[in-house]
Amino acid sequence: MAPSRTLKVTMNDGNTIPVLGLGTYAPRSVPKSEGERATKVAIEVGFRHIDGAFLYENEKEVGQAIRAKIADGTVTREDIFYTGKLWNTFHRPELVRPSLEETLKSLQLDYIDLYIIHWPVSFKPGKKMFLTDENLKFISDTVDLRDTWEAMEKCKDAGLVKSIGVSNFNRRQLEMILNKPGLKYKPVCNQVECHPYLNQSKLLEFCKSKDIILVAYSSLGSHREAEWTDQKSPILLEDPVLGAIAKKHNRTPAQVILRYQIQRGVVVLAKSFTEKRIKENFEVFEFQLTLEDMKDIDGINKNLRYVIFDQFKEHPNYPFKDEY
Ligand code: NDP
Repeated sequence: MAPSRTLKVTMNDGNTIPVLGLGTYAPRSVPKSEGERATKVAIEVGFRHIDGAFLYENEKEVGQAIRAKIADGTVTREDIFYTGKLWNTFHRPELVRPSLEETLKSLQLDYIDLYIIHWPVSFKPGKKMFLTDENLKFISDTVDLRDTWEAMEKCKDAGLVKSIGVSNFNRRQLEMILNKPGLKYKPVCNQVECHPYLNQSKLLEFCKSKDIILVAYSSLGSHREAEWTDQKSPILLEDPVLGAIAKKHNRTPAQVILRYQIQRGVVVLAKSFTEKRIKENFEVFEFQLTLEDMKDIDGINKNLRYVIFDQFKEHPNYPFKDEY
C-alpha cells in the first residue's frame, strides 16, 4: 500500500476531497493512452484525486489506470477521489443521469466521487463537442440550470455520485442555485481557473462565505498549445517573483504555485503527463510559504484569464462578463 500524504478537506456535504488533484485534460494530438500512463504514475506517486471529464475523451483510459492500481493493491476504491463533468449538451434534466451513467461505463466504476456541471452554458443535445467539425459554432439551448441541478441531486440520491458541484459559475450563477426554492444539496465546489495571475480573491471569499470549495484549474498557466488559450499571454511559470520565491525555498515555480493555493484554502489541480513533473507536483506537503511570500504572490495578480472560450461569448450564460 503506497503511503498517501495528500491532505484532505471536508466539503459542505460531509465528504472529503484531497487538496491536490491530477488534471487529465490533454490536447487532442496527445494519444489517449498517455492519460492512462500518467494516471498510474500519479497514483503511484501519491495522488488520490483525479480530475476527469467526458469532454477529454479519455475517461476509458483513466478508468483503466484507476482500476489497475486498485487491482494491484496500491490503493482501494475508497482511497481514490474521481471528478467527472456534465458536458454542455446534457443539461436537459432527462439527460443528466444517462450522461453520468456513460461516464461510469467508460470508467468501469460503480460510482464517482464528484460530478460537476462543466459550464453554465447549455447546448442543444446532439452536438457532442464544440472543437471539431462545427468549430466555433454553438447552438444554445434554453435550459434552466436549476432544473439541471435538481437532476444532479437525484444522481446523488441514487448513489451514482457522492458529491455534486459546479464549474465556471460566476457569483450570480452560484447564487441562483443557492437561492433555488427547495434546494436539497448545495454545490460542494466551484471549479474555476485560478492561479497567481488570476487569483480569484473575490470569488474565493464569496465561496468561503457559503462553504463552497474553490477548485483551481489551469493553476500552472494551462497549455500553450490548447485550442482555447491566448498564445500571446505571459508565461506564468516564468514569472520572476515566483522564480525568486522558488529559489529561496529551493523549490520550483510550479511547487510554489501549488503550495500557494493549498495555503489559501484552495483545492488545486495540476496536469502533467511527464513522470518527473508529476512527482515534482506532489512534493508540496513538506514546505511552507511565509506570509510575506503569500503577499508577494497576491501582488502579481493581473486578472489574466488563459481559458477564455471565445466560442461561448455570445451565450446568455457566458460566465466571464460579470466582474466575478
Ligand atoms: P495546468 O495549468 O495544470 O498546466 C499544464 C501544463 O503545465 C502542461 O503543459 C504540463 O506539461 C505543464 N506542467 C505541469 N507540471 C509542471 C511542472 N512542474 N513544471 C513545468 N511545467 C509543468 O493545465 P490545465 O489547463 O490542463 O489544468 C489542469 C486541469 O484542470 C486539466 O487537466 C483539467 O483536468 C482541469 N480543467 C478544467 C477546466 C474546466 O472547465 N472545469 C478547464 C481547464 C482545465 P506536461 O504534461 O508536459 O508535464
